[in-house]
This record gives sequence, C-alpha cells and structure tokens, in this order.
Amino acid sequence: MVNRRQWLYGVGLMAGAAAQPGIGFAKDNQAPQPSEHRGLDLSEFEPKSMLQVHESRVERARFPVLDFHTHITTSAKSEKGVDLAAERKYLGTPEELLAVMDRRNIRAMVNLTGGYEKSLGEVIGKYDRAFPGRFYTFAEPCYERWKEPNYPQLQAQAIEQAHRQGARGLKILKTLGLYLRENITSGELVKVDDPRFDPMWDACGQLKMPVAIHVSDPVAFFAPTDRYNERYEELNNHPDWSFYGGDFPSNAELLAARNRVFTRHPKTQFVVLHVGNFGENLANVAENLDRYSNMTVDIAARIGELGRQPRTARKFFEKYQDRILFGTDATPHGDEVPQQVFNDQLYQIYYRFLETDDEYFDYAPAKIPPQGRWRIYGVNLPETILRKVYFENAARQLGVTG
Ligand SMILES: [Zn+2]
Repeated sequence: MVNRRQWLYGVGLMAGAAAQPGIGFAKDNQAPQPSEHRGLDLSEFEPKSMLQVHESRVERARFPVLDFHTHITTSAKSEKGVDLAAERKYLGTPEELLAVMDRRNIRAMVNLTGGYEKSLGEVIGKYDRAFPGRFYTFAEPCYERWKEPNYPQLQAQAIEQAHRQGARGLKILKTLGLYLRENITSGELVKVDDPRFDPMWDACGQLKMPVAIHVSDPVAFFAPTDRYNERYEELNNHPDWSFYGGDFPSNAELLAARNRVFTRHPKTQFVVLHVGNFGENLANVAENLDRYSNMTVDIAARIGELGRQPRTARKFFEKYQDRILFGTDATPHGDEVPQQVFNDQLYQIYYRFLETDDEYFDYAPAKIPPQGRWRIYGVNLPETILRKVYFENAARQLGVTG
C-alpha cells in the first residue's frame, strides 16, 4: 500500500528519471543516490513555462458585458450544505464593485444568491434599485420550510412574492440533488426532479423568471481522490467537494433527473450554469441543447474546461451562439477560490479567452492552476458572437434592453 504522502513524492520531476536509470541524473555511470535526488512534493512544483508566445492584454471587453453569474451576497447560515437563513452576508459594497465594473466594461452583474423574503427585498433595495441597470438579483428557494406539508404551494407563492419584490429569476444551488435531504439535513437525498418542486418551476415559467440551475459538479468530483484524479490537488484542498461514495448519486443520474425537469416544464427557461454542468463533455451539452429548447448555458468557472479544448469549444460557440451566456461565478473577496475571485484580473482572463487566439495561458489568477494543472488557449470569437455572449443572450433572459 502506498499512502497519499508517499505517492506525492515521485510525481513530477522524479517519476521520469526514476523509471529510466542511467538517464539524466546518473554521474560517471553510477546510479543516482536517493539522498541527492529526492522527489519533489507536488505542492512545491511551480513550473515556469519556457514557451515564448504572444501575450495580449485585454483591459476592457470589446463590448459591454452582462455577467450573469455572481455572488454578491450569500446565506448567513448553512448546515451540511443546506442554506438555512434568509439573512444575507454582504460580500462587496456597490461602490467597490462598480469601480471594477467601470474599469472592465461590465454594464451589469446578476447576483444569483439573493435569498428570500425580507432579506431578498433588502438586497434588491441596496443594489438593483439604488443603481438601476447595474445589478439584478435572483431569489432562492426556502429550504427551511421543506418539511411543511404544503411546501409545494408555499414555495410557488414565495416565487410570486419574490417577483413582486423585484427578483429577476430563481437560483438553484447544487444543494438540490447533493445536500437537501428528506429531514433537511438528514434522511434520504431529495431528487432533483422531486414533484414537490413542480409548482415552483411552473411559477417561474408563468412569471418569466429564468431558473439559473446548478446540478451535479465537475465529473472528477465523483471519482476517487487518488493519483488518477486530474483534480487531485483541488479535492485534496477541499475534501468536502468530493461526491465519491456514500449515498451520492452519480453525475449521470443527477443530469438525467435534471433533464426530466426540463421536459416536464417546457415553458420555464433554464440557464444551466457552468456550461450545462458538463464542460468536460461538450458533445453531451450539445445533445441536451438540441433536445431541450428551454435550456441555455453559462460559462462561469469553466474557461479552464473550454480553453483546454479550444477547437471544440470554438465550434460549440459558433453553433450555440444564441444560447451561451457570459458568467464568471465572481465572488468579492473569494480569495480561496481564485477561479472565481471578483477582481480586475479575473475579467481580463475571461476577455483574453474569448477575444484572442493567445496560447497556453492561465485560466485563473493563481500561482497554481486551481482546477487542474493545465493552461488554456483563446477561442478568438468574431464580433457578432462576442456581442451575443457578452450581453444580448443574458439580456433576453432578463427582459433587459440595450
Ligand atoms: Zn455560482
């Protein structure tokens, strides 16, 4: 048995040399001494690319941007992955956000996690109403009341109330399918297509509130956290992100349940976040887009996936140019998740990916690529597609003009 620590030694620099005795490290035909040539711990490995290629700096997006996926506020209380309070934590003031937005040509941000009830109204007052056209807020389901026998009706009414308060859509976190249980934090997992949510989906359709839905997670999170896992370091840093084992459904089961919801609610618009939650398999995302006309996707926190398959990604943008929304998952002061920290640099990386044909650059403002050790390539989209992806497709979902 090799434990995790032991196998980390030997990954990277040592592995190749050790496998080929006599090459590289051997001096005077002597075998390398283990003490001289200790392997390097993967966490210490910070290779500097020797590749000399053109580097574009894209200070501002070529066209105004509507970032459909940000988290300006979050729940003040959660337990075992389930948010249990309407009260919000405020992560960034409008003033500090607007400074970055103005520098980077971001006309508006959608704050997906606005919560519900009175707290939702407060968020809308502080952002949407105080700075018209710059912020839009989405509501979230109230899982606290899940156990009440008339939950389906209560939740549908809560959507109507959120609409009256000024919420522009509904956000579903991965809580549904992976954390919410029959007794909220215990018992069987509640399925994504549980019929008790049907009135909520219908209410969103009737009120023309798009549903921004996150189901499942990167497919590597459903595989063992071992030497073969391409996101080993990330899962090692965040062991609670692994959905391998236990009573978790598979990625395929989660997506199948999600797709049944799309079929049952054809009048409801679903924006499936993170490239349809399957950026690793664009053929699958394309198949679903072809099948469900009420489905669109955003690209939030997945330029790492899109940019490592730039030719396939470019074709995907061309074919689905009317159904892909710009999003980042930006979280003010979210420094521990650099792929979604709200700052100038994050937006410049997204713009570089979309607007240039630069090669082999970092997909996140971080020393070590946080979602897997690879780099990305730009897709160099033409202006017509850029306009749609940056703004028009999201504006249509929100009923916003210009
Ligand atoms: Zn998000």
